[in-house]
Order: sequence, then structure tokens, then C-alpha cells
Amino acid sequence: MAKPNSIGVDIGGTNLRVALVSPEGRILGKTQQSSSVSLIDTLYGAIDRFAERNVSSIGIASAGLIDRERCVVNVSPNIPSVEGLDFMNLLGKYNLPIFLENDANLAAFGELRAGSGRNYSSFVLLTLGTGVGGGIVYDGKLMNIPAELGHVVVEPDGAQCSCGNHGCLEEYAAAKAMINMATSALEKGEQSSLRECCEGNIYRITPQKIYETAMEGDGLARDILRKAGKYLGIALSDFANIFNPEAFILTGGLTNAWDIYVEEAVKEAEKRAMRGLFKKDSVIRSTIKEDAGLIGAALYAQESSS
Ligand SMILES: [Zn+2]
Repeated sequence: MAKPNSIGVDIGGTNLRVALVSPEGRILGKTQQSSSVSLIDTLYGAIDRFAERNVSSIGIASAGLIDRERCVVNVSPNIPSVEGLDFMNLLGKYNLPIFLENDANLAAFGELRAGSGRNYSSFVLLTLGTGVGGGIVYDGKLMNIPAELGHVVVEPDGAQCSCGNHGCLEEYAAAKAMINMATSALEKGEQSSLRECCEGNIYRITPQKIYETAMEGDGLARDILRKAGKYLGIALSDFANIFNPEAFILTGGLTNAWDIYVEEAVKEAEKRAMRGLFKKDSVIRSTIKEDAGLIGAALYAQESSS
């Protein structure tokens, strides 16, 4: 009999994604559904599709602080509906080993086994989207620590974050920060062709629109991406000073704005990190992108159960 597959589950704020993953990290089947209606019923439906296909374990990726022993998400500011769910009990009917881990940690594990991290023994993964997630691989192993890298402080008296603290990286370098900077500048009457995008509705501006407008040479859009990039660079220099990783693997929708946003971050990190601890070529893109969490969840479950 062939080596068994595993099921990877990725619980996001918008979507619930489930995949059947081969022992080599290949996705054999995948579903994506809205997670807003009934999370548990959607989860059962998706797992049922794959449960009969030589499955040996289930790995679940969720945002937030995890109790691994009990398979419970203790705190998840961005997905409150998942807090307190007892996955061990809820998925007991499948009679398979269940593993729960933080989504960015599992994305790092997916990169380590099947993505951009395969050639490195140490790297820091950052997911750059609505928020900022982080995972750390050190000495060839995933560090099973909170790694809430999006909640390091980059502005001591800054904006309040969903975690309760002030001035967190994700309040300054992620999608919400870019959108806030754009709308508040336009509300103040600043000149920019961002005003004409989204059918003139400045409250529908997206990071992708900001990037496209920036690439057309718009000053405000370029400033926004540079400013967000600068904050990202401050954090990169801190992570470089602490871990001196061989690579920083960046993933998430905001990496589409690489040319300005990430390049600014690299410049800033070069200026700030202790000499020799940050190399600009160490900042690379993910090759498996949004599938990293799914693949990581499945392979993590497989390795942990064998
Ligand atoms: Zn925070």
C-alpha cells in the first residue's frame, strides 16, 4: 500500500480551505468555502470529501495562540469564532490523529518541506496581507513558539491594534495601514490619481490599486508603499539582529507590490541591522504562496503522527 496522505485544513477569516496532500507535499485535491456561515459544518463537508482516500492524519492551521496539547485555539483576535473550539472532540469521529498549530508556523513548515525554504536551515517567514503573520525555522526545525511577529512594536505611541497593544507592525505595514493612509490623505484633499480609481469611491481602495497607481508614477501611492515598507524594514532589521536567518521568505497578497514596498523594506533593514546580520539577497518570495499553510498543516500532522 502507498504511503498515506494527510488532510490539511487552513482556517482563515474569510475562507476555510481543506486539501488532500501527498507525503511529498503535493496537493491532490483542494476545496475552498466561506468560513463565515457555519465553520464546523463546512469543515465536516470538506473533510468528508477526502477522508476515504488513504488518509492517516489531519493537520489544522489557524490564526492565533494555540494550545497544542488540547487542540484548542486560545486567542484569535482576527477569527474570534474559532476561539475555544475543541477540535480533538469535534473531529473525533474520523478516528485519526489531529494536530493544531498556528497558521503562519505551518506556512513556515510548508516552505521548509516543499517550498522556498527547502535549501535553508534557518529562515523567517512573513505573511503580508490583511495582517502580518510570522513563522521561524531555526537549525532545520520549526520553532514551536508563538512567533507573533506582526505584533512587534514599531511605533511606541502608535495606533491601537486588535491585540490590545499600540503601534504593532501589522498596524503600520499591512493592508489596513495602506488603505488608511490612502483614505485619510484623500479626505484631506491631497492630489492623487487614487481618487479616480474604484469608480471614485475612495473607501473601496485596495493595496493592489495603490500598487498599480504607484507604478503609473502617482506620488501619494508611492509614498504609502514606501512608508509601509519602511516599517516592514524596521522589523526585518530586528529579526535579523535576533536570528540572523539565511533567508526571509515573504508571502501574501502585499508581495505583489514588491518593486516599491519590499525594496523599501530591504533598504531600511540594510541601514538598521547590525553589520553582517542582514543581506539584501536574503529576502525572497514564497514559491508555494497561499498553499504553504495547507501543505504545512498536512505534512506537520503526518510527521508528528508517524
Ligand atoms: Zn498587535
